[in-house]
Amino acid sequence: MGVKILGIIGYPLENSLSPAMHNASLEKQRLPYLYLPFPIRAAKLKKVFYLLRRGKIVGLNVTIPYKEKVLSLLDAIDPFAKSIGAVNTIIRRKGRLIGYNTDANGYLLSLKKETGWNCRKKRVLILGAGGAARAVVYALAREGARSIVVANRTIRRGKKLIRDFRKQFPDCRFQSIPFTSGQLAKKFPEIDLFVNAIPTARRGDKKLPLFHLPKKAVVSDLATSPPTTPLLKSAKRVGLRTHSGLGMLLYQGALSYQLWTGRKPNLIAMKKGLQEVL
Ligand code: NAP
Repeated sequence: MGVKILGIIGYPLENSLSPAMHNASLEKQRLPYLYLPFPIRAAKLKKVFYLLRRGKIVGLNVTIPYKEKVLSLLDAIDPFAKSIGAVNTIIRRKGRLIGYNTDANGYLLSLKKETGWNCRKKRVLILGAGGAARAVVYALAREGARSIVVANRTIRRGKKLIRDFRKQFPDCRFQSIPFTSGQLAKKFPEIDLFVNAIPTARRGDKKLPLFHLPKKAVVSDLATSPPTTPLLKSAKRVGLRTHSGLGMLLYQGALSYQLWTGRKPNLIAMKKGLQEVL
């Protein structure tokens, strides 16, 4: 039987843990797939889609910076991904390219499993308004968060995000603020969950005033490399509970795997695959 190609598109991709994680389970279950990294610039995106359309690639994960950009290149978008406005999984089915989002449920699963957190009536502040932030905001609003503040460098993008979700979740209070230490310090005392959805390296060493957060707050970082990011280290230093991006990576990956192969992955093999490259 021929080997079917799966993979991940993004740029840059040098730190992606997904190939090791997926290949470990595919090998364990003896499934005829190989998962490859495709670090491609935006100008080459259409070439990858050509390979998808020809069936040379049967499924993809999508990462930074393409989660929103791929929407216009697909034939259909699952209603859940459409509501979020971002796609992280593509599958070729009967010659059609269909987009899904597994980030939202992957994030919730890991948050619940690792911290026992219940989102109902909670107050959230999220840094970032990109594809991953959209999935997390959607997931938390759907679970009944009381309020969500979005802090983003590009104000317009933050405002668009909350405009999109306000209509869908009228019971949740949304606000968009600029990403400055002063604005964060003002908001932090009233926050139960602080989520970072900006690549760690790009945030630079901008100091976040974490000591303003309530003692019971949880600090969650979507970044996975290193697993204990500088943000999580700082949060631990001031005695706050932390939640790493590795759990989200695992569960969003597991949900994508199931869409492509029709089988639940071997989570133990996936975790081992991750440990080997960390
Ligand atoms: P994206 O759609 O490209 O969005 C990037 C976000 O980062 C935007 O809010 C952008 O702000 C902000 N940003 C980029 N450079 C910045 C800078 N120099 N200063 C301030 N803000 C900056 O990317 P994404 O797909 O949402 O991914 C975001 C992060 O989440 C990445 O680190 C990704 O690896 C991580 N992630 C992790 C998982 C997981 O499973 N653990 C899953 C998904 C994503 P502007 O709007 O101002 O450009």
